[in-house]
Amino acid sequence: MAVRRKQFAVIGLGRFGCSVARTLARAGVDVLAVDKDEARVQDIAPEVTHAVQGDTTDEAVLTSLGLRNFDVVIVAIGADMQASILTTLMLKDLGVPYIVAKAATEPHARVLEKVGADRVVRPESEMGERVAHSLTDVNLMDYIELAPGFSVVEIVSPKESHGKSLKQLDWGARLGVNIVAIRRGTAVKAACGAEDVIEPGDVLVAVGPDDKIRRIEHGEF
Ligand code: ATP
Repeated sequence: MAVRRKQFAVIGLGRFGCSVARTLARAGVDVLAVDKDEARVQDIAPEVTHAVQGDTTDEAVLTSLGLRNFDVVIVAIGADMQASILTTLMLKDLGVPYIVAKAATEPHARVLEKVGADRVVRPESEMGERVAHSLTDVNLMDYIELAPGFSVVEIVSPKESHGKSLKQLDWGARLGVNIVAIRRGTAVKAACGAEDVIEPGDVLVAVGPDDKIRRIEHGEF
């Protein structure tokens, strides 16, 4: 039985496209790299299975490249929105099973989805969000300092607490942190009892030492 390897094509060899093409090639899959700029094609040629110069807004070029036979095509054209949209649309019409397209802006992303991209990526904003999240306490909503190192804090319930009662969690005895209210949607339950069970999306109003609240926030309890 012949084993057929997955065929990938990357169109547009800017920084993003080159990075995708190189990583795929290093993973051992077949990669066709395409760009209208011959110099960019030459640069990547030694690292991928095939590298071809061509303008993919030209239907005859797409057809001659045999792109209809590829399993996954990544459209990594960014700045030229028209070329990116037209290329994606024609690939869809050719019947490519899975198209990943890079968008420069939010409206660009919406159009790419409309014309049939199976996955739209926005590398700059996605990476920006990831870096910001990694630098902030994402679960922390608001806080009032009662004394240095001791606060009333609103936190989004960490997933480790979901489905557990306050009694089971026992934060009061173990960490010196008391949950004084739970906000669920627009409803607020004050004077929480031991039997109250925490649900995803609950906002917990916690009173206690900052370092211990931080542990709860990060699910380390
Ligand atoms: P990056 O941020 O990844 O460097 P970018 O968003 O700046 O990329 P561009 O430089 O606009 O993206 O495009 C990436 C590549 O796509 C360029 O090398 C460009 O030559 C190529 N490209 C643009 N239009 C076409 C097209 N119609 N056919 C083939 N390649 C194209």
